Amino acid sequence: MSEPNKSISIDIFQMLLESSRKKSHRNEVLESLGIKDYFVDGSIEIDKKSCRGVDCQLCIKVCPTSALYWGYGQVNIIEELCIHCTACVLVCMVDDCIKVSRRRPNNKIESFSNPRQVYRLLHSTSSEKRLNIVNRVFHPRRIL
Ligand code: SF4
Ligand code: SF4
Repeated sequence: MSEPNKSISIDIFQMLLESSRKKSHRNEVLESLGIKDYFVDGSIEIDKKSCRGVDCQLCIKVCPTSALYWGYGQVNIIEELCIHCTACVLVCMVDDCIKVSRRRPNNKIESFSNPRQVYRLLHSTSSEKRLNIVNRVFHPRRIL
């Protein structure tokens, strides 16, 4: 009875080890290129069926880290270079073609698959900044 459990724990241990190796390799690559990663982790997917591909390539042009490139007749991703900034989602003309998910240092998970979701976040972030400035200027005692 104890053997299956042992094998499950070895599998989990190996998976964790592998994921930690990948993360440290990714950090080394980003550091060597001078790219700052603001998120704990994340993922990106491109739906090759709905992508306008050769007629578009806007995501490739806008990506700040060159994580996207054109090859073999399609958009390809170098996942290690993706910092989940969502710039590609913002310019993509097809909803749900690019999907980016990311986890912030406070463990908040965010997912984006169309420009409206990115705009909403940008708008709420700048509203929050404006509110902080107003609070700081007019109600200094309310700021912790
Ligand atoms: S999320 Fe940002 S870094 Fe990642 S592929 Fe899109 S534009 Fe490039
Ligand atoms: S921006 Fe969107 S539609 Fe255009 S190439 Fe990139 S993934 Fe395809």
